[in-house]
Amino acid sequence: MLQPQKIISRNYELPESWTLATFEKAGGYQAIRKALQMEPAKIIDEMKAANIRGRGGAGFPMGVKWSFMRPHPTKPAYLVVNADEGEPGTHKDRTIMERDPHSLIEGCMIGAYAIGAHVAYIYVRDELHLAKKRLWDAIHDARAKGYLGNRPFGAKDYPLEVHVHTGGGAYICGEETSLLNSLEGKRGEPRFKPPFPAQVGAFGCPTTVNNVESIAAAGPVLLMGGAEFSKLSRLHALNDGGSRLYGVNGHVEKPGTWEFNCGPTMNELIEHAGGVSKGRKIKCVIPGGSSTPVLLPGELFHAPDDKSPLHEWHGKSVFDVPMGVDTMRTAGSMLGTCCLTVIAEGTCMVRVAQNLARFYKHESCGQCTPCREGTAWILRIFDKIENGQGELRELDQVADIASGIVGNTICAFGEGAAGPALTFVKKFRAEFVAHIEAKGCPSKGSIL
Ligand code: SF4
Repeated sequence: MLQPQKIISRNYELPESWTLATFEKAGGYQAIRKALQMEPAKIIDEMKAANIRGRGGAGFPMGVKWSFMRPHPTKPAYLVVNADEGEPGTHKDRTIMERDPHSLIEGCMIGAYAIGAHVAYIYVRDELHLAKKRLWDAIHDARAKGYLGNRPFGAKDYPLEVHVHTGGGAYICGEETSLLNSLEGKRGEPRFKPPFPAQVGAFGCPTTVNNVESIAAAGPVLLMGGAEFSKLSRLHALNDGGSRLYGVNGHVEKPGTWEFNCGPTMNELIEHAGGVSKGRKIKCVIPGGSSTPVLLPGELFHAPDDKSPLHEWHGKSVFDVPMGVDTMRTAGSMLGTCCLTVIAEGTCMVRVAQNLARFYKHESCGQCTPCREGTAWILRIFDKIENGQGELRELDQVADIASGIVGNTICAFGEGAAGPALTFVKKFRAEFVAHIEAKGCPSKGSIL
């Protein structure tokens, strides 16, 4: 039985947990006081020891990312927090901003100090109205008390400021370079990399972009010690440390967000969410946001060799493999944002594929032809199949178009859009064929 952890979410259940008074009563702003007495390099060492794999989806170690920052002789450095949570099925960062905004602000201060920045921007998705309000209020209160400003806590001569910047609701602005363009007031379109943000980021200056949950962990890590935090994880040996927020949504009895030590299995998470709704069977699970490849319950991971981190789970279902950055990759999918979507038996997978294709077509920024045209063609084919006008040869066309997107675009959105199309047609081909032969949805497009 999984036991929820209370480190990132330690204050969630406290009365008025979003206020400065509650945060301080629970020990808040002690970590930044400690940080300001430390050498920045030592703080980065603690974050490296904590093995925090970026919680936004890419899984890059946060401490290592911080260590890429080098002082520039003439340019300032910036910390930018990616709070543009918009991946379908993902709902974890908003809980931090709504229920414990001061933990994010304290994390911003620690991160900014560690990388040599004086200013942090939190780029928030505009639709997250409560999150924005709580952050604005929290920044106002922290500034009024002298925690932010020229001399944080009245002692250290190291000015620190945190600003909230609201996005316009474009999914692509969750991609870090697109987010930086948007922050600068430009169109939210991804940039070519290199140069990477650590060299040329916000306003042409060295910048680190981190996810909300990663940054919110900085305070507890500093107080607890990076190595201790890392050891909490079942996947500590795979350098996937600490605890993190897990979301479960879709066809489960009690959808929600909980914190666990890293590495629960999908089965454990689904059980914690009350099991599949109405006692039905699982048809498939999307492990970490819609762009991560869908997994079937009976699927076994590819026969791993002795060096594979998965060899000890060889022979089990992927649903029994600990959910970690590397374990999910080896299992043929991705951990992504760690919010899994459960899809029960009885759901029309053509309709699910069509729904996702509509989303990706709408959200493509249009810079790259394979992505702009490919997402439109994939949607057009799925629309035809769902409307009873599909042809068998078009299933192969979907595979051709999706394969033509992968590896031929400026950003990872193209791959994220092609992945679901490829895997849905491959893993649920019989359903697509049945739609084509029946000239429409045999189950009348039921999404339960
Ligand atoms: Fe834009 Fe798609 Fe190209 Fe990314 S892959 S830059 S979203 S067109």
